[in-house]
Amino acid sequence: ARTLADAIKVSNFPSKLRPENFTNNNIKVTGPISIAAFMRQVLTSPELGYYTTRTEVFGEKGDFITSPEISQVFGELVGIWTVAEWIAQGRRKHNVQLVEVGPGKGTLMDDMLRTFRNFKSFSSSIEAIYLVEASAALREIQKQRLCGDDAVMEETDIGHKSISKHLNVPVIWVEDIRLLPHDAEKTPFIFAHEFFDALPIHAFESVSPTPKDNVQEIMTPTGPTKLHEPAKKVSSSPEWRELVVTLNPKAVEEDIDGEPEFKLTLAKASTPTSLVIPEISDRYKALKSRAGSTIEVSPESRIYAAQFARLIGGVASPSPYNQIAAASRKAPHPSMVAPVKRVPSGAALIMDYGTMSTIPINSLRGIREHRAVPPLSSPGQVDVSADVDFTALAEAAIDASEGIEVHGPVEQGDFLQMMGIAERMHQLLRGISDGEKKKNLESAWRRLIEKGPNGMGRIYKVMAIIPENGGKRPPVGFGGRL
Ligand code: SAH
Repeated sequence: ARTLADAIKVSNFPSKLRPENFTNNNIKVTGPISIAAFMRQVLTSPELGYYTTRTEVFGEKGDFITSPEISQVFGELVGIWTVAEWIAQGRRKHNVQLVEVGPGKGTLMDDMLRTFRNFKSFSSSIEAIYLVEASAALREIQKQRLCGDDAVMEETDIGHKSISKHLNVPVIWVEDIRLLPHDAEKTPFIFAHEFFDALPIHAFESVSPTPKDNVQEIMTPTGPTKLHEPAKKVSSSPEWRELVVTLNPKAVEEDIDGEPEFKLTLAKASTPTSLVIPEISDRYKALKSRAGSTIEVSPESRIYAAQFARLIGGVASPSPYNQIAAASRKAPHPSMVAPVKRVPSGAALIMDYGTMSTIPINSLRGIREHRAVPPLSSPGQVDVSADVDFTALAEAAIDASEGIEVHGPVEQGDFLQMMGIAERMHQLLRGISDGEKKKNLESAWRRLIEKGPNGMGRIYKVMAIIPENGGKRPPVGFGGRL
């Protein structure tokens, strides 16, 4: 059977340059790919990706469990946050769009929609639900959950469409946030739960070039040959080198059981990626000059955060997408042509595993059946993710739109406490007589807010993007009160 590992090898490592075709060790690093390219393939490649081919990934039966799957109360409180923010913004009627990126099984949206039915003026203002989902298999699960088993899913010019069973409004699926229409008249509420940690990252290490580094190897018909550059060309200040995925010769040659087929190696020279990506933020500057520093950067996450900001606050400058479209002479998507001037409205809530303010390092991890496994092993069978750099998301959002401000991140435990998790849990507990069910509910509650070293209440963070108001009105859970 064709495996994803084989597919990655074939598409990325030209057969002539594959290690097994050479005995010379110097060839080991020929044909490396970025961690980002690797993640993209193992997670969402249409045929063999982790998310695209499996549906039982979350929950007790799957590989990991997420907060919305632990208790309905999580989605209810996020729903209440949304209604509170909508009220604080002056109850704009009839133009609310709900947007969720990476909805998984659709549980969070389902719990929110049930909650919204208790707030009639808000629920009657919702006109559409947009779901950004790369996996056709998960889209189907989301459709069953939100629209019902019998609901049909039609194809549209931007994706797929069905009708919500809760609200009788369209549910529209797209595969990328940039396909969402920009509309100055709309009020988008955007949710991202454990989405950003699945987006591809690049990792870099700062290296002081030595004269030895300046010896380059090229492939000639007889094998690898060293090219000597004049020593005076060597610059002494450290430069970024990308950590790249290469074939693990041990696994390839010796076929050792359990030995990952891929491994991380430092690129021998700088690449276009290592020259450009670490320059996107000043935060990396000081680290670059300290040889040995490492950083993880997720350009794709920045694109998402920037797009959230533009949808809420309007476009500050022509989007990079338009510039790329212009350069390649492709027609940009109609929604992207002109910067949209709008009165900022709506909000985004980003909930994920990640760092408050530090730059993530060495955070790439693999999870399979609730256990940590090497992230580069069994491609397509393992959930691969990385810490979310919340400061990078905030920076990208602020750069993208003048109409927004960012609050947080705060720890999930604090956020849920401020949203009233205790009151809601007590209310639910009063309605339950079964002792076992009571115990389960109490343990779910503790798990969501648990602040131990690995507690979900501490390691998960929540960040909000709201319309700019001079920081005078922090949202509920971020200093504002219910
Ligand atoms: N929010 C859910 C699921 C988290 S898993 C929960 O917390 O339970 C990540 C989700 O993002 C999955 O639905 C996955 O298919 C989707 N996803 C991952 N990478 C994506 C990408 N590049 N574009 C769109 N969706 C993606």
